[in-house]
Amino acid sequence: MAGQTNAFEMAQRQFDHVAGLLHLDPQVAEILRWPMREFHFRIPVRMDDGSIRVFEGFRVQHNDARGPNKGGIRFHPAETIDTVRALAMWMTWKCAVADLPLGGGKGGVIVDPATLSTPEKERLCRGYIDVMWRNLGPRTDVPAPDVGTTPQMMGWMMDEYSKLVGQYTPGVITGKPLGSGGSMGRTEATGFGVIYTVREAMKHLKLDPARCRAAIQGFGNVAQYAAIGFTELLGGKVVCVSYWDRDDRCPYTVSKEDGIDPRFLMSITDQYGTINKSQASAAGYRIEEGGEWIRKEADVLIPAALEGQINAETVQLIHERVKLVAEGANGPTTPEADEVLRERGIFVLPDFLCNAGGVTVSYFESVQNDMNYYWSKGEALSRLDDKITTAFEGVLEMSLQQQVSMRDAAYMVAIDRVVKAMQLRGWI
Ligand code: NAD
Repeated sequence: MAGQTNAFEMAQRQFDHVAGLLHLDPQVAEILRWPMREFHFRIPVRMDDGSIRVFEGFRVQHNDARGPNKGGIRFHPAETIDTVRALAMWMTWKCAVADLPLGGGKGGVIVDPATLSTPEKERLCRGYIDVMWRNLGPRTDVPAPDVGTTPQMMGWMMDEYSKLVGQYTPGVITGKPLGSGGSMGRTEATGFGVIYTVREAMKHLKLDPARCRAAIQGFGNVAQYAAIGFTELLGGKVVCVSYWDRDDRCPYTVSKEDGIDPRFLMSITDQYGTINKSQASAAGYRIEEGGEWIRKEADVLIPAALEGQINAETVQLIHERVKLVAEGANGPTTPEADEVLRERGIFVLPDFLCNAGGVTVSYFESVQNDMNYYWSKGEALSRLDDKITTAFEGVLEMSLQQQVSMRDAAYMVAIDRVVKAMQLRGWI
């Protein structure tokens, strides 16, 4: 976030590059380079000691040509308007590439939620809605959880909105707890979505998953279900996962040559994705300090932790056996490293295609809220598989047709769909 490359400038540069490839009319490009609407506001919150603290909040609606804006709300001490703008723009492309009838939005509050008590968090969530509710709604803009926000917080926000509009409106927000309008399958959605794209990429590359090994960075929500998916759905072997140890303040790689058991490791992992290393070690796992995951002899690398992890330095460590990188995290590969992967002929599944499973099941959640009828987990996941497989096929076809990388192809598919929607609505 703050102190790093300006995310919004990066998002605009990526867009400009593909707008050039598509020979997009410069006037149309100018519309898409910027959010359509932005809200900057202050949220006064009564603290437990009786004082009032004022928090700075944002909501950015990048483009709603294809449907209501969609995107999470982050609570982070280093949140900036430019981060929110970039994330809102990326949401427009992510929803478009998955062919969801949604636009792109994102929200944020400058706050470290760990410093607030539960009642203070609840008052901040309700305060966010009190300021923004006139510009949110199932047909307008539908937030969701993101870094620093949880399903419980979405429940409070939904309740506040429902009170203000005078009727129960679960579809105003997704990522709600099960039993309060949440969807089955949301927990697995992003990790399994990653694996559906990996499965399709392996078919294209003529790789047999049963003979393939994967190395995963991270062991949070995305990585855990990617590990389960790779072993249980594809029959492959995951040779390592990794995590950030908050006590030792360094990453560890947890590996087993003949394949890890993701469900066992999940049973000794806390809610922040931190593995208990003494229990892992006692169960025969090798524990190595540092980012060893990237050096492992594997066919598939799945970065599923943070941005910028495959960079000019670390890309040099990638084993010659690697044929596929599946970006579970948002922005895990820097442009310099991307170039090296391209030169080495490594197939990259770009983040906003690879991790679109989460927003896809969020969309299913709002569909179920609208119908007030809820699907089984099997139904949600099989519809997810259909959506993600179709998205992969569309991007692969564009990549082959235009002789461009999967990342550029994903951008081309997405931008083309948004431009068509703007044309059909008579905006351009
Ligand atoms: P999470 O907080 O549940 O897990 C993050 C994991 O990464 C933890 O295991 C943590 O220990 C580990 N980690 C952090 N720093 C590390 C480091 N330096 N080395 C190794 N491991 C490290 O997060 P998540 O929800 O799994 O999200 C992971 C990534 O996927 C993020 O980039 C997020 O934006 C993206 N993403 C998540 C979703 C979703 O639905 N959860 C959807 C789309 C994209």
